[in-house]
Amino acid sequence: MDKFLKMTGFATSIISWYNINKRDLPWRQNASPYHVWISEIILQQTQVKQGLDYYNRFISLFPDVVSLANASQQDVLLAWQGLGYYSRARNLHAAAHQIVERYNGVMPDTYAELINLSGIGPYTAAAIASIAFGEPHAVVDGNVFRLLARCFSVELPIDTGEGKRFFTNLANELLDSTNPGDFNQAMMELGALVCTPANPDCAICPLRTMCNSYRLGNPFSFPVKSRKTTKRDRYFYYFVHESDKQLAITRREKGDIWQGLWELLLIESDKRLSENQIVRQLSESLNMAPLAVSHVVEMRHLLTHQNIFASLHKVKMPEKFNLVTFKDKIVVYTGRENLTDYPLPKLIEKLLAQYFDLPPKVL
Ligand code: SF4
Repeated sequence: MDKFLKMTGFATSIISWYNINKRDLPWRQNASPYHVWISEIILQQTQVKQGLDYYNRFISLFPDVVSLANASQQDVLLAWQGLGYYSRARNLHAAAHQIVERYNGVMPDTYAELINLSGIGPYTAAAIASIAFGEPHAVVDGNVFRLLARCFSVELPIDTGEGKRFFTNLANELLDSTNPGDFNQAMMELGALVCTPANPDCAICPLRTMCNSYRLGNPFSFPVKSRKTTKRDRYFYYFVHESDKQLAITRREKGDIWQGLWELLLIESDKRLSENQIVRQLSESLNMAPLAVSHVVEMRHLLTHQNIFASLHKVKMPEKFNLVTFKDKIVVYTGRENLTDYPLPKLIEKLLAQYFDLPPKVL
């Protein structure tokens, strides 16, 4: 396989294409290990178009490892607000601390050291090691899986251990070890711009003459997956309680989505609740019956593995009523104008935007 592929010029073809067609992106202008690291973490689960503004803002707030380590977790989460998958931000922060403690604030320059940092797996370690330090490790992300699966008609499912090992070995066989950074970026760029999931543009693809799927006309048969993602339905009932124009919020805890972010008072259920059930559960959590509960808005929020059906209610309580805790979580009261100090999930941002614009309707 190796000799044949070298002969067909796989690496040469994609690197030549990359040199002409690559997008002008800020982390390519400054390919320092820190910039490559931040860009790779942001671009996991996020499109370049959406990630670009976040990247620029993140770098201006935290221009290097030391400034990131010195920031509070709350500030790092605020910079991440809206990007989702918040464990990425928490891990970046934790890894910055590790780099300061173990390497005096200087990013380590080998794959073996990088992979021992929080949130850096084989993919990110290979990207930083190859792009910033020229170490020959192939990057295998969703774009690379798709490109290789189509080009070589690989029927092994990409979501199995065997499949992952096969694709990683194949990518490493193809790798141009004299120019691994450009090779890896070319693979990812070609997958993102040409060999796209829904609309592969084979007519302009530099791999056309060596691509099995193009020859057989079946690119949509690849990549193969062994199982469908099953999604969990969750019903979130949020409540706005204001006291002296201060809004009650709580912080989400470990072991669930949006860890460390802030939200409104929440009652969660795995099935839809009736209006009576909502009021009853709320009364139990408040240890008293509210004076009124008004429905404001409903919203569906889709995550990779979860469907969240959210609804927002306004709660009227007696004057001077203040919560200390709600469902064992500490309650903080904040003015509307100070909400920007708290990192909020996108869903809460959207619910609050509706709340401050829409008149509530009484149940
Ligand atoms: S020829 Fe088509 S299917 Fe094959 S790698 Fe290129 S874009 Fe993908």
